[in-house]
Amino acid sequence: MADSNPIIKLKDIDVTFHNENKTIEAVKDISLEVNKGDVFGIIGYSGAGKSTLVRVINLLQRPTAGEVTVNGQDMLALNSKELRSARKNIGMIFQHFNLMNSLTVYGNIDFPLRDSKLSKKERKDKVEHLLDLVGLSDRANNYPSQLSGGQKQRVGIARALANDPEIWISDEATSALDPKTTTEILDLLGRLNKQLGITVVIITHEMDAIKQVCNRVAVMENGQLIEEGSLLTIFGQPKQKLTKDFVDTSTQIKSALEEIEAGGLAKDFQGRLIELKFTGDVTNEPIVVGLYKRFNVSASIMFSNMERLSGTTIGIMLLALSGDDDKVAEAIKYLNDLKINVKEIDLSESESE
Ligand code: ADP
Repeated sequence: MADSNPIIKLKDIDVTFHNENKTIEAVKDISLEVNKGDVFGIIGYSGAGKSTLVRVINLLQRPTAGEVTVNGQDMLALNSKELRSARKNIGMIFQHFNLMNSLTVYGNIDFPLRDSKLSKKERKDKVEHLLDLVGLSDRANNYPSQLSGGQKQRVGIARALANDPEIWISDEATSALDPKTTTEILDLLGRLNKQLGITVVIITHEMDAIKQVCNRVAVMENGQLIEEGSLLTIFGQPKQKLTKDFVDTSTQIKSALEEIEAGGLAKDFQGRLIELKFTGDVTNEPIVVGLYKRFNVSASIMFSNMERLSGTTIGIMLLALSGDDDKVAEAIKYLNDLKINVKEIDLSESESE
């Protein structure tokens, strides 16, 4: 479980690139703190500045301005030897795995240990333990070309663990994988976060990946950090339009609304269409039955989705309400009083778009 003890502190970070005649402000005045034990997700579309920002953490990218503190150390004050040592504490996992094709699985995992002080036997034990941790003990002698994408990423993960880092940076580590393998790899990251207490920073353009493992989320757009919060807050009460878009895509409400509109509900339907969002115990209330019993308002469920996030249920529903106008209004007020977030969807508006 994360406590409030920042292991990574970025303060007022700018990264500006000068290319020919162009100036690109890839990261603009970002401050963020990652606590020990967090699985911290940074989400944004391609080009938002995510990779540049995380590369600042281990100074693979030096910031144009700002302060970088990792484990209490001012990274910008380190000499090159100290920086090399600090970097060993920060493992990286990449989208395209970055394995050495001429080395076996064993060789790839052993490689980062080449200048460690371990004895031959300790080193062998370590590689075997890492192979076991990622479930690849039977693949030690295979070459990367003989592995599936998911297996290659497991090698990448084991290699990133070799120097016992306290921090892991995962740069779109699942973007090249199919959905099932993505789930397996994210599960593995989540398990190792808990088992080894490693702090993980994940960058991705997919809310589904964030949803599966992260406890905190930052959203980036055009080099800026536009929103940040716990997974539940970001999911339950997104403030910025981009955040809401990511959430709506992930809950599939976006496609549900499109289907409802295409299906002609707008033409035949006389009542009101509302979107409900609720967290926690409210989901146990028999909402639909309640509306009928109390207000004689019938509620058809047009769409419903429940997510279990960080141990809390977040529900989202589209209800088509019909009944007397004033009763429907009372029903909506009743839902609001239950601390359900209610938003009316104006179908005539979207129809005329
Ligand atoms: P993301 O990871 O969100 O896709 P990046 O951090 O890779 O975004 O890129 C942010 C912006 O910075 C992009 O416009 C990209 O083209 C630019 N950029 C990244 N690295 C460099 C570089 N080394 N030189 C010049 N421009 C760069």
